[in-house]
Amino acid sequence: MLKGPISYSLIKKSGKARRGVVHTQHGDIQTPVFMPVGTNGAIKALSVEQVEALDPSIILANTYHLYLRLGADFLREAGGLHKLASWDRAYLTDSGGFQVFSLSKMRKFDPDGVHFQSHIDGSRHFYTPELVMDMQAAIGSDIAMVLDDCPALPATHERIEASVKRSIVWAERCARCERPAHQGVFGIVQGGLELDMRLRHLEALVEMPFQGLSIGGLSVGETPEEMHDMCQKFVYQMPEDFPRYLMGVGTPWDLVEGVAAGIDMFDCVMPTRNARMGTVFVGEGKRLNIRNAANRKDMRPLDENCQCLACRRFSRAYIRHLYVAKEITAVILMTIHNLTHYLDLMRKIRTALENDTFEELRAKFQPA
Ligand SMILES: [Zn+2]
Repeated sequence: MLKGPISYSLIKKSGKARRGVVHTQHGDIQTPVFMPVGTNGAIKALSVEQVEALDPSIILANTYHLYLRLGADFLREAGGLHKLASWDRAYLTDSGGFQVFSLSKMRKFDPDGVHFQSHIDGSRHFYTPELVMDMQAAIGSDIAMVLDDCPALPATHERIEASVKRSIVWAERCARCERPAHQGVFGIVQGGLELDMRLRHLEALVEMPFQGLSIGGLSVGETPEEMHDMCQKFVYQMPEDFPRYLMGVGTPWDLVEGVAAGIDMFDCVMPTRNARMGTVFVGEGKRLNIRNAANRKDMRPLDENCQCLACRRFSRAYIRHLYVAKEITAVILMTIHNLTHYLDLMRKIRTALENDTFEELRAKFQPA
């Protein structure tokens, strides 16, 4: 495998779990890693200074939203998203395929791509592999994703097979597209809960010049147990010298189980979205709803073991009061806490892998 702009170094294995580093032109990413999601080019509720204080090595931006709202021409004129959003660490962009299948109205496949209507204003668009790669080139992300066809589960065998066939053709076309010198591209494995389809898709993708591989099409309707089981059976069969990215997953429990299966990279809207809904993650995979009356006079921090800004300075009672009064500060504080919780979990996982104590940590996690 040629060393591209993105490369992976394996530091240590513990069972199937891996401790490693993904190298990018915007810094090294210690793995396993959680990547906070900045859909529109910002982590919802946080300033870039607040995000920097959380110290993530990489964040996500969504091609679908940036394409519909800003377009490739403006992003090029602006010098790319790093410059526009004043972010000097790594970005990963999804291809927008998942949003087309989950958010947009009216979708229609064409051998060349997919027609859809914007969820924002109903305008009609046509996504091709070339268009999404051009868009990601304009964004200037460090890691771009191929366009894939991501069916919701449960899905028939015919639907899964069609998705794999279409995604292979689209991946080949994405691999041929021009891109910035600093940008790597990851292929995406589909196949639903059918191991043989996933292996067939993987076999096709490893022949293409990608710098990493992703598992798509999970956390789209199946149970967490089914997802963990598929990861256990499939992920270790992916090539050792590629970073492995489980897209759109998940709860703290899912992250621990994903690492146990050999996943290196995760992203999910769960910590930021839950903060806006008034839910914080505490302890080992537990959740706390700040609106509960029990928090009304509770002077303890959100999580006694957390060192985030919110937990160092404020009580549950105060944050609950702000949330109930609809003060945006409550959402800011809970977003900071939830992202700290996720990033701390990954630090603990990395340390546990280094110290051969990962299985002890894994045993503490219960379904969240
Ligand atoms: Zn906290």
